[in-house]
Amino acid sequence: MQKKPEYKIGQYRPVYFWAGPGTIRMNRLKFMQVPVDEAVHHTAHTEVGAEVIVNRMHQNWIHLTYSWGFPPEEEQEDWDSFETATKTYHQHGKNVFAYIQSSNCVYDGSFRKKDWYVRDPQGRKHYYYSGRYMTCFQNRDWINYLKERVADAIIRGADGIFFDNLWYGCQPSSLFGAWLGMAGCFCTTCRDRYTREEGKEIPRHVDLNDEEVITYLHWRAARLTEVVADLASYAREVKEDIQISANDYDLVMRPSYLIYGIDFPSLAKIQDVTMIENFALPLWTPHKRERLANNALTIRNARPFLPPDKHLSVISYDVGIGFDPVYPARRILQGMAEAAALGCSMTTKGTEYHDGKKMTLINAAEYADQQQAIGDFSRWLESHQTIYTNRENSSKVALMHPADSLWQKWLTLAPIYFGAAQTLIKAGIPWKVIKPGDSLEGINTLLVFNPEQKKQLAAKPNIRIITVPNLPGWQPKPDSWVAHHPYFRNVISNVAEVLIRTYHANSFSRSVMDHLGMAKLVTQTNLYYLPTLQKQTNLLSALQQMNSIRAISNEPILLEIWQQDDLTQLHLVNYAQQPQHVEVILPWSGTARIITSGFADIKSIDFTSSLFVEVDIYTVCFIHQDKGVI
Ligand SMILES: [Zn+2]
Repeated sequence: MQKKPEYKIGQYRPVYFWAGPGTIRMNRLKFMQVPVDEAVHHTAHTEVGAEVIVNRMHQNWIHLTYSWGFPPEEEQEDWDSFETATKTYHQHGKNVFAYIQSSNCVYDGSFRKKDWYVRDPQGRKHYYYSGRYMTCFQNRDWINYLKERVADAIIRGADGIFFDNLWYGCQPSSLFGAWLGMAGCFCTTCRDRYTREEGKEIPRHVDLNDEEVITYLHWRAARLTEVVADLASYAREVKEDIQISANDYDLVMRPSYLIYGIDFPSLAKIQDVTMIENFALPLWTPHKRERLANNALTIRNARPFLPPDKHLSVISYDVGIGFDPVYPARRILQGMAEAAALGCSMTTKGTEYHDGKKMTLINAAEYADQQQAIGDFSRWLESHQTIYTNRENSSKVALMHPADSLWQKWLTLAPIYFGAAQTLIKAGIPWKVIKPGDSLEGINTLLVFNPEQKKQLAAKPNIRIITVPNLPGWQPKPDSWVAHHPYFRNVISNVAEVLIRTYHANSFSRSVMDHLGMAKLVTQTNLYYLPTLQKQTNLLSALQQMNSIRAISNEPILLEIWQQDDLTQLHLVNYAQQPQHVEVILPWSGTARIITSGFADIKSIDFTSSLFVEVDIYTVCFIHQDKGVI
């Protein structure tokens, strides 16, 4: 370890930087012989790459490829390359996470003889993209193999282990308003253990109205947590101060508990630092149907479930790995600023870009502007890190998290829950999420989505409680007919299964489906679309927040509010493509000290109930209130 890690904004500056021979090989396998810029993948592991990543981009936790899950006879060179790269980054005084693919392996060479694969109810292996199959987390041989990799990565210099894709078995998918396919693994080991512990067979269909299915999904998530805890404690036995992180995949914008078995609060306790990978790189699309991709939904929903001593980071894409070109500098900065405003670190996406012709990395010479922008912003955050410590979120509006009913009734409840949240963001109103049982102190408006939770809340004289599904236009849609017709559900399920298998197995079908934008179907959630204007109006009128704290602007501005001692911090992030004039409505008069990211100087303004600010990408206002509320 180069330096004891401080997981704080400005101090923790991680970069995803899969490179070296293994990543070249993996790109070709995953994307069916896609051209790869081999030179940038090789130089990434040398002094030339470190010069860009460390000196120009100012990153200090480098996620390096160690094991993609190729059989050892193919992967040996990747381990050697990891060791060389680690030495290089250590010479710069930086730390290294070793990437370990955890839930699948490449079906090749000696791995073809293994019996550690996930089985579906028909006994078939389950695809993980092309050329790979899911492996079973209950299989001792697989777990022991992962432990071998952990120990070897540590011997080769890793400061941290990064477990990717903690997915347990088959994953159900939603189509036509129903859950299709199955969840988990049906190998003999899994089935025997479930029967031994629960006295039942593993359910073969994901019918969330069936208590047995819910019981199984809880069991599956608990087993996954158990495995990760075992791997982490093994790593810590090998090296006491080894750092543990994992990919808590897209856990807010899809029901990851149901699909993958990811139980975030439990997994977060095991990790030294958490990371959510998602498709939330901010993008405001005002045309036709308004859509605002953002990380406010993910981060505000993850915050209450994060243990108090843990730090969160996010890594965000548009369409996803292998589809996105390197983003323009402005969009990268909007993403970094949004994460900081919301209280978390952005893991820089340095890898798995496709420039239209080939797979490439951020260290390529043509991305000098992006490298410089990331470096400048990272340095600014580092020198302003005291902004982000010892403070409490002080939003007056809170959303009550619907708890387990969010994933159990996802297809009907998630559009209402996230639709309300999106409405508030667009209206410039800061909000936070609280869990059932959390303190209501400081809140004046509480949005509730589960009528059962409303019943449990005692009447509070100073809090307006709004049950959103009771508002005009906000009632949940009835379950789709597919969900109630097992026959049709099975037919559609089988067709979808064939399509997915064909996508991964056949390069012609892959190119046709990519051309049709199939990847977008999987990664581009509908939940970022704004509700209709009528629904937005109905919610905002019920809130009666028009004279409370909010930002008024032509295009969406994120407003986040924190209290640090006697100073109120207003963080403003601009989602638009150009600078905006913003009016912030405040219930006080006072003095605002205003700082803009990228600049050191602060200007001071006296204001009465309205503060006018020009926001390019990110501006923070420190408010000193005059005595007495106006
Ligand atoms: Zn199994």
